[in-house]
Order: sequence, then C-alpha cells, then structure tokens
Amino acid sequence: MMTAKEIRDSFKQFFESKQHAIVPSAPMVIKDDPTLMFTNAGMNQWKDIILGTRDPEPRRRADTQKCLRVSGKHNDLEEVGHDTYHHTMFEMLGNWSFGDYFKEGAIDMAWEYLVDVLKLNPEDLYVTVFEGDASEGLERDDEAAGYWLKHVPADHIINGNKHDNFWEMGDTGPCGPCSEIHVDSRTPEQRQESGISGRDLVNKDDPQVIEIWNLVFMQYNRKADGSLEKLSMNVIDTGMGFERLVRMLQGKHSNYDTDVFQPIIKKEEEITGLKYGLKEETDVAMRVCADHLRAVSFSIADGQLPSNAKAGYVIRRILRRAVRYAYTFLGQKEAFLYKLLPTLVEEMGDAFPELKAQQTLIAKVMKEEEDAFLRTLDKGITLLDKAMEQLKAEGKTELDGVQAFRLFDTYGFPLDLTELICRENGYTVNEEQFNVEMQKQKERARNAAAVENSDWQTPSGSPCLGGEEKSSLNREDLGGSQQFVGYDYTEYTCHILRYRKVTQKKNEFYELVLDYTPFYGEMGGQVGDSGVLVNENETIEIIDAKRENNQTVHIVKQLPKDPSAEFMACVDTDKRDASAANHTATHLLDYALKQVLGDHVEQKGSFVSPDTLRFDFSHFEKVSDEQLRQVERMVNDLIRQDIHIDEHRDVPFDEAKKLGAIALFGEKYGDKVRVVRFGPSCEFCGGIHASSTGRIGFFKIISESSVAAGIRRIEAKTGRECEELVYQLEDTLKAVKSFFNNAKDLRGVIQKYIDEHDSMKKEIEQFQAQAVERFANQLVEKAREVNGVKVVKAVLPLEPAAAKDLVFKIRQQIPERLVCALGSRHLDKPLLSVMLSDDMVADHQLNAGQMVREAAKLIQGGGGGQPHYAQAGGKNLDGLSAAVDKVIELAKL
Ligand code: ATP
Ligand code: MG
Repeated sequence: MMTAKEIRDSFKQFFESKQHAIVPSAPMVIKDDPTLMFTNAGMNQWKDIILGTRDPEPRRRADTQKCLRVSGKHNDLEEVGHDTYHHTMFEMLGNWSFGDYFKEGAIDMAWEYLVDVLKLNPEDLYVTVFEGDASEGLERDDEAAGYWLKHVPADHIINGNKHDNFWEMGDTGPCGPCSEIHVDSRTPEQRQESGISGRDLVNKDDPQVIEIWNLVFMQYNRKADGSLEKLSMNVIDTGMGFERLVRMLQGKHSNYDTDVFQPIIKKEEEITGLKYGLKEETDVAMRVCADHLRAVSFSIADGQLPSNAKAGYVIRRILRRAVRYAYTFLGQKEAFLYKLLPTLVEEMGDAFPELKAQQTLIAKVMKEEEDAFLRTLDKGITLLDKAMEQLKAEGKTELDGVQAFRLFDTYGFPLDLTELICRENGYTVNEEQFNVEMQKQKERARNAAAVENSDWQTPSGSPCLGGEEKSSLNREDLGGSQQFVGYDYTEYTCHILRYRKVTQKKNEFYELVLDYTPFYGEMGGQVGDSGVLVNENETIEIIDAKRENNQTVHIVKQLPKDPSAEFMACVDTDKRDASAANHTATHLLDYALKQVLGDHVEQKGSFVSPDTLRFDFSHFEKVSDEQLRQVERMVNDLIRQDIHIDEHRDVPFDEAKKLGAIALFGEKYGDKVRVVRFGPSCEFCGGIHASSTGRIGFFKIISESSVAAGIRRIEAKTGRECEELVYQLEDTLKAVKSFFNNAKDLRGVIQKYIDEHDSMKKEIEQFQAQAVERFANQLVEKAREVNGVKVVKAVLPLEPAAAKDLVFKIRQQIPERLVCALGSRHLDKPLLSVMLSDDMVADHQLNAGQMVREAAKLIQGGGGGQPHYAQAGGKNLDGLSAAVDKVIELAKL
C-alpha cells in the first residue's frame, strides 16, 4: 500500500515526466489580494497569468497546493467533521496548461495517471461533462465527451448542469466548462444492498461516491454585465483532493482512516481516553479537532495569527469551533488542540518545513487562544445559567433568540451549543428570532463592505477582452501589460491602458492602469505612492496606488477629460523618500533584532508609511530597555556608515538564497526575485528603499509591546519624524523646568517636592484623625432626639477617609436608634455619608443606600452602599447642606 507521502511524490513525478515544471505551493494565507483572503484552489496563484498580466512561461506546471475553504465562495466549514471527505484545509494536487495542451491532453493525462499509474479500477470511475445552458447560449461540451469516449464506455459519462459543471473564478473573470472524475468506493456489500448503480449516485452527496478530480477548461471571461466572451488563451486548470485520493488508494472509506489523519486521531484517543469509531458524536468531534488542528497550524505558520478582524477572525473561528467540540463532546475543559501539534509536525513537518521551524510559536499561540476562549466559554455558560434561572422564575421554557444571538456574537457561543445546554436543562431556544438577528448582522456587514466594480475600459472606448475580432491578440486583451519603472524613476511618460469605475459605500472613484508607471502599489507592508498625472491640459490627483494581479492600480477621484492623451506620472517624492527611509530602517531593525535577541526572531508583519514604521516579530518575552537601546545603537551605527543599496533584480530564487537573503514563511515568491542588501542586512524584498542608509538620518524606537502570544511589536520613527520627537521632548522638559524656576538639578528638586508632599500628607492625616475624635465627641453631645431617635447631622471639611472614620465612630458611641447624615468637602468636592444603627434598618425599614441616592441628587452626584452605611460623591458643593437635611427628612421620624 502506498503511503500518503509516496502518493504525493508520484503525482509530481508523473507530471514531471509530462514536461511540467513542479512548483512550490503558494502560501495558504493571501496577503496582497483584496478579493481573496485564503487560497481556495490551486489556480489562485496563477490568476494573473490567466488574466494575461504575467508571463505564462513555463506553460506547463504542477504542484500540491495548501487550500482553505472556510469563507467566501467556497465554504465547507459546517460539513467538516460531520462528513468524512470535506476538510477546511486540504491539499489540492493540480496540473496547468497556459495556452499549451487543452481538453484532450488534460483528459488523457488524468486517465493515464489514475488508471495506468495508480491502478484505480476503471469500472469505479465516472466522469461528468457540461450539458450546455440555453440561457448562456452554450452547447453541450461534446468535445470533452468525445475525448472521454476514448477511455470510458458511454454509460460512465454523465451530463452535468451549470451548477456542477461550469466553473467560475468569481462573479467576473475567467470561467469555462469542467469535467469531474468521480469514484464509486462502496464495498461490494453496500452496492448489493442499495441496488443503485454508481452512475446514479454521482453528485448526489453520497459519502462513498465522491468527486476526486476536477478538470477545468477555461475558455471564457465573464463580464460585469454577466455576458461571456472568449478568452484568447485557453487554460487547463485541474484540482484533485489529495486526502480523497489517498483514501481511495489505501482502500479506506473515510479520509480520516488514512495515514494522513490516523496518527492525530490516535493521539486524541490517548489524551481523552475515548475511542474513535464507537459513538457518532465523539467521532465527529475527533474529526473536527484533527482537521482544524491542521488549518490553524498552517495559517499560523503562514503568518496569519488569530485575531478579531478579517482573515485572523476566520482562523479564530476555526480554532473556537474545535475547542467547542472538544469541550462538549471530548470532555476537554482545558487547552487541548496544542497537545496534538507535535504529532502533526512529526507527520507533515518534512513536506512542509514551515511547520517544523515554527512549532514553538504555533503551540504558544494556539494554547493562549484556547485558554482565552475557554474563559469566555465559562463566562457564557454562567450567563446562560442566569438566563435559565430567569426563565424558571418566569415560568417560561423558551430562551429568546436575541439573547441566544448575544451569546453567539459576544461570547462565540454558536446556536447549537446554546441549544444543547438549554436542552440538557429542559429549555428550548427561539431559533427563528436568532436567525432574524443573524440576518440583520449579515446585512450590516454586507452594506459596510459592498464594492461594485464595472468592466475595464480602454481609453479608445472599447471594452477590454473584447470578443472574437480580438481573439488573436494575446496579452493585449487587457489593453496590454504594465511596466513598473519605480525602482529607477519617480516621474515617467505614460498612457492609460485601461480604467474602471469602482463604487464602495456610495463613494465613487476610478482605477487606472498605466503602460509605464513609477508608482509603487501597496505591497509587503509598504503603503502605496500618491502623486499626480499631468499634461499641459490637466492635472489629475492620484490619491493612492494598490497592487492587484501583479500590477499597480492607481486610484483617482476623476477621470482625465481625454483618457487617451499622454501624461507624466509624478510620484510625491517627499512622501516616497520618507517611506523608503522607513522601509530601509525596517530591514536594519530586523537585522539588529536578530543580532541582539537571537536567530529565532522571525518577521511576522510590517507596516511602512511616510511617518512611521511598525515591525512584528516572534520573540517570547518582553524586550528589555537595555536590549532596545542596543538595537537602536546598532541601527544608528549602520545609518552613519551610509551604506549604499546593493540591489539584485530578477535573481533566480535559489541563487538569491545563496546570496544569504532571508526568505519569509508564508510569503509568495516568483521564480525570479529581488534581493536588497545594506551591508550585513540582506532580504528578499520588492519594496522601495533609500539609496543609502545615511538617508534615514536617525532611528528611534517609540514603543515595544505584545500583539499576541509569542509576537512582539516595535514601533519606530526615522529622520524628520525624529526631529519632531526631539522638539516635543525638549518643549516638555522646558515646561517642567519652568515650574521649578529653571532649577539646575531638576531631578533633585522634583524629588524634594515629592518628599515634602508625602510628609505633608502624613501630617494632614494625623491632624484629621485628631479632628475626627474631637468632632465625634462634639456631634454625639449635640445629637437631637426626635421620637426617641438620635439625629446627628453636620457639614465639615474632611477628606473622604476621615469622613468614613467619623460616621463609624459616631455609630460606635450611639449603637441604637441612630440616624446620622454627614456632608464633607475635600478639594472642593462634596461627599455625603449616611450611617444608621442596625435597628433603624431592621425595625424602621430604612436603607442608607436608597437614602443617599435620593439625597445625592441635590449635589448632582450618585453613589450607594449597604443598608446601614452609604456614601455618594457629587459635583455641586452648594447643595451639600440641603442634601444633609434631605437625608433626615427621608428618615421620616
Ligand atoms: P465537492 O462537490 O466534493 O465539494 P467541489 O466541487 O467543491 O467538490 P472543486 O472545487 O472542483 O471541488 O475542487 C477540486 C477537488 O478538490 C475536488 O475534486 C475534491 O477532490 C477536492 N476538494 C474540494 N473541496 C474539498 C474539501 N473541502 N476537502 C477536501 N477536498 C476537497
Ligand atoms: Mg465543494
């Protein structure tokens, strides 16, 4: 029996023998694409080639791609664990042809691999072809069906509708018919028993008749208005679920029974003392945890930590789903997932070295997240207990959906958990209301994020990718490709290649692509350039530049009157220089941190703008002030050495590694990379840098803090920003000095003031203590008697602690039948104190807390306390005396 690893290798070997370049998996977390957070298919990393904005060579490629399907168009999350063949994170084996072989080649190779190489039984295989769609004006894919007939009998070919057999990248963009290969993996007994042929179970959600490979024939482009047009370059894009393939070849009936998952499940059994395969809900929970462990670990390794926004939130939700299942069904009340990590690393660490290298960090982050969520779960359960008590008191049996939604929204309590706990206690949940709340929230989110793109236009007025007559053009389809000249120029002559209107939250703006541009589009943490587009007739402000599909997209508020004119694209060089200096400083900081703290320091995020720089890195404790100074000194030394940039463009990846450049985990690198060196610092980097380190001027760390378990953040400033900083410090110091008559020994003088202040405070406290004794005696003597109750009232200058002391002293002396109201003032703030003897509370039903709250209105304040003693502070000193009288009045003696 082949192991998972052997199967992975055999796929690569097969396609290598078919002249495919074997390429690495792109990161699972996508950093620079606003339309997609996670890789959900092998083709994602080739999007720009398919769109024609990147060189398609080599035209044949194959890989295994880490995918995650938990958000957006592909979301399998709710299936995962409940079925045995959908995962959140999975490996997709794929082969591509960019304008090389098409349907026949793809079909022949897929068949050869499955049947001749892997020896799957052809009788168990079924294929689907697109049946056509009248509304789109598309006919049945007879071409594909014809090639399949070379390999399979006609009754193994099944027509599929648009939903299953027409693949689309998104709402717009490349698309085309596809052919899926399905496998009937039922046992002979199961077949006998059901009496239904495999053919009739294809695409019917039968867990034993499943799709393993999808061959997509991209030949159209979907426009914003919904219409289709021919792509000029036909593309083959295939994707085969690795875990499903392994299951077939290992003769299993569940992905979780293969050697991909078994070691993890064994570990789960060992920790929980439960057995897999006995009880459905235990099994589901074990599958959920085994699956989610992979998704979370790989995301963290790719640099995406759990957080409360965007991609980070998706990861947090996956982790919480696992914790919840482990908590409810596996009896794990303490962090659990992180204990499975060593097993995962042992199994997958060789194929994916990023896992092994970052094991400590992943474990730390995971455990901290688990602990935090378990605390939240506890809080939520307490709240739910209270809510159920309330229901009981009111004689109700249904928890309202608004409460259930609040538990979900604030405490991450999904409906099923709330329902489970309620059910155990004999209550139900109003699901309908819950769904209404959920819908409301979704709409709020949708409205906030809605972006509408219209089709790209060329300046001549024709839409891009235009129809048949243009189909001989290749990359010119999109009006041509762009040349980035920003490493060498900040001004350049250019034309607009294409533009489109974008509407976001009712804001309208335009995106422009230029043939030549010096503008750097936001990427790798460095913000985009701003500037202008000018010619003798007009000036258009470029407010931002973004990076999309390997190109700079310029954001403008209005289109030029003549979009086909020639322009000069000019970058705002002040901002650019400041950003560049900050970027270079970031490299030096990275280098210095590794020197001072050690080699475990790994970049985990960075942000570079004209006014600041931020650098996140793995490190397990606070960086001491001494270490921060060391880092600053080292960076400033490198700045003073004024080291010139040593830049290597278009270096093959392996050569770059030989140069000693530091590659980041979770970063996508092309075949050719750019290496930037400043003396000892050498990094892979596509960013804009200072021409020499001296341009940074000066480097100063502003803060060091923690962003997550095992991740620290440094914020720093350079150059002119530092100048401002020095002035601010100077001004503050001057102001402080002037408070102390510009004393020479400022520290000494301030220390003297502090000492004096402390000893004066002590003295005042002593005086007040004596005064309290005196006041107590006087007030007790002066106490009036009303209907047998002793009434004590006064307004005195006392600090709060002394006021409290005083009323307790009075109570000591008059332990029965006492009503005491004391107004005190300290630093112009009024304070009202009420003290009652216990019998006044018990027999007269008085409550000091209520009385003080009522009376405190007169001093514009509030407070409270116990039934016998309460205090309220306020704002209105003038009302103090009236408030004291009010208290006595409320006693109704
Ligand atoms: P299904 O209908 O089974 O969900 P799909 O139509 O979503 O599959 P594609 O988008 O065509 O699948 O992806 C290509 C291949 O990736 C599939 O044939 C399958 O083998 C595999 N695959 C898809 N989704 C998953 C998943 N969630 N977990 C594991 N493998 C998957
Ligand atoms: Mg699917």
